[in-house]
Amino acid sequence: MSNQEKEQFSDYPLSDRILEALEALGYNRPTDIQKEVLPVLLAGKNAVVKAPTGSGKTAAFAIPVCESMEWEENLPQALILEPTRELTVQVRDEIFHIGRKKRLKVPAVFGGVPVDKQIQTLRQKSHIVVGTPGRVMDHVRRDSLKLGNIKWLILDEADLMLDMGFVDEVKAICALIPAGCRISLFSATLKPEIRQLVEEFIQDMVPIAVEGSAESPDSITQKAYRTDTEEKYQTFLKVLMDENPESCIIFCGTREMVNVLFRKLRRDRIFCGMLHGDMEQKERLKTVDAFRRACFRYLIATDVAARGIDFDNITHVFNYDFPTGRETYVHRIGRTGRNGRSGTAVSLVSPEEMRMAKQTQEYTGRELPFLPCPVVGEEKEKAFWKSQRSKAVIKPAKGEALNAGILCLSIGGGRKSKLRACDIVGTICGIPGMAVSDIGIIDIRESLTYVEILNGKGAMVLECLQTRPIKGKIRKVRKTRGIS
Ligand code: AMP
Repeated sequence: MSNQEKEQFSDYPLSDRILEALEALGYNRPTDIQKEVLPVLLAGKNAVVKAPTGSGKTAAFAIPVCESMEWEENLPQALILEPTRELTVQVRDEIFHIGRKKRLKVPAVFGGVPVDKQIQTLRQKSHIVVGTPGRVMDHVRRDSLKLGNIKWLILDEADLMLDMGFVDEVKAICALIPAGCRISLFSATLKPEIRQLVEEFIQDMVPIAVEGSAESPDSITQKAYRTDTEEKYQTFLKVLMDENPESCIIFCGTREMVNVLFRKLRRDRIFCGMLHGDMEQKERLKTVDAFRRACFRYLIATDVAARGIDFDNITHVFNYDFPTGRETYVHRIGRTGRNGRSGTAVSLVSPEEMRMAKQTQEYTGRELPFLPCPVVGEEKEKAFWKSQRSKAVIKPAKGEALNAGILCLSIGGGRKSKLRACDIVGTICGIPGMAVSDIGIIDIRESLTYVEILNGKGAMVLECLQTRPIKGKIRKVRKTRGIS
């Protein structure tokens, strides 16, 4: 059977627990890139992959990595490097979901948040660590992240990682991992710096290039409007009302412009969120999550902040500021018109931006149709404000189906009182009907411990632990939200 003929995940040598997780995630058949990458990685080889965002590349490496993890090992066996904090969280979640049934621990380490909590997490059993190169090196220097048992290194979004100036850290990490560790690389472009990195560090690799549908603009209707800087905002409002998008990303050239546009739209009572590098990390993550769950529908962003982040079902992309690079144009508009859906990309072009717009047309080989500024009639305006007032339908978080039958409990006591995972496991397994396989992730904090009870047995364990001592003491045990 050729790579592209395999239509089911069950056509690959994958364990039931991985297949069950994929089913719960709704991944019914492998994407093109998965069909190319899975056989290579599952056969123990390295891959250097050129693939756009949205092609399913995270799962392409996450599936073989999760498949090969030994649960019993305490030290991390895989390290995944990501260029941004948002991507770190997104990729961590995807890997966590795929490895959920194997009870894999997948900590995320990135800057902008206190390091102590991450150190506590890394001190415990960890299987796959996902992180930004800067914070990963920080943990290596502190000896809180031990690389001695790493068998997989994945350099994800490698071109962005180098664009962001992480080249020294990436090289340092490549040099630190044990000899014989497998290294694979994923990148939207394979520019010379990337090829150099590959030559220096990656042996026996299989090159894979998938020109995914995300970059094909056929499903995307492109439109452009000429505008002056002074009247840009007013033109934008008319275009926005005319299009009345269900959900959109509005790209600006700078963080300042994102701020300005956000304030103007809010002042005009148009509900939106924003994302740029000057925002507090917590705020950025909250924004990504809220937009993903459709708590608001318009996101104003810079390129770097939004790059690689997977937002499902974006109906429109607006270039409030025209991009300064032609590849950026393709990246931006590729955020819409995915997965067989159609999308619209609307650009505002000022006289200074006209040269770049022409270059972009030559690059994409498609004409950018310039239209007269729309006249928004009463009907359209009404429809726009009606949709602004309509209540958002909040989408469930991804991977929720995987949580079925799992209850997370918090237990009074942690590192301070020298509580260890074996104390918790010992007590819980002493409850009639309980086995080790009914216990999921255990996370021991300073004075609190979280433990997941699987297979629908949580309520029974919660009741029993009210009267059963753990390490000689009756503890406060409560139901809690999942482990973060
Ligand atoms: P990525 O390119 O890794 O950012 O993935 C893009 C989106 O596709 C993410 O929302 C994934 O969860 C989703 N995805 C990945 N693999 C599959 C699959 N085989 N079937 C359906 N969706 C998938």
